Amino acid sequence: MKKRYLILSGLLALTLAACSQEKPATSDAKASSEQKTVQEGTAGSKSQEASPKKAEVVNKGDYFSIQGKYDEIIVANKHYPLSKDYNPGENPTAKAELVKLIKAMQEAGFPISDHYSGFRSYETQTQLYQEYVNQDGKAEADRYSARPGYSEHQTGLAFDLIGTDGDLVTEEKAAQWLLDHAADYGFVVRYLKGKEKETGYMAEEWHLRYVGKEAKEIAASGLSLEEYYGFEGGDYVD
Ligand SMILES: [Zn+2]
Repeated sequence: MKKRYLILSGLLALTLAACSQEKPATSDAKASSEQKTVQEGTAGSKSQEASPKKAEVVNKGDYFSIQGKYDEIIVANKHYPLSKDYNPGENPTAKAELVKLIKAMQEAGFPISDHYSGFRSYETQTQLYQEYVNQDGKAEADRYSARPGYSEHQTGLAFDLIGTDGDLVTEEKAAQWLLDHAADYGFVVRYLKGKEKETGYMAEEWHLRYVGKEAKEIAASGLSLEEYYGFEGGDYVD
């Protein structure tokens, strides 16, 4: 719990810091075309509800994406980076749905704050990640924080839920509510328990990713996005 508090307070402090100063980017995470055709996913291996097709991951220049059943799905994980120039801000549709989700949780009696952690620029993630590396070392930081250019928060489609106590939401019943109901608002719980190998991250009960209408089918499958669509995930290549 202490670490989670540190994560959050560090995040807020760095978000504030990011407003007042511009730091030079330390590396160029421009999406490279050589990663375009890697297709070694495991879709369909663990659930009959999974899409049997492997997604074609397309390099759009600033990001990689696949065509979902209804919408384009931006792919952001440790295998598919975002350009450092990709700076879309908070997605307004996702934000509107998140506000509804938070309200529904509050009305169901969960102590969820109106405040949340959403969009992070490449520069903000650069500072945040470095803070964690300084604190815990690179190997440990890589388990819970994305390197610059690899954070789903840079897409403007990811949100961390925060409790009224100021901590990231981990409480069991709230976590279960999210697994059961987040899809009603177009979100999936992105980093599921037991999927660390597929997603490349430890379980994060609080991290929601907006995918739109297909969220219900994804949630029902019990699969990570990597498995459901069949795109490459896991740890960094280097
Ligand atoms: Zn998050």
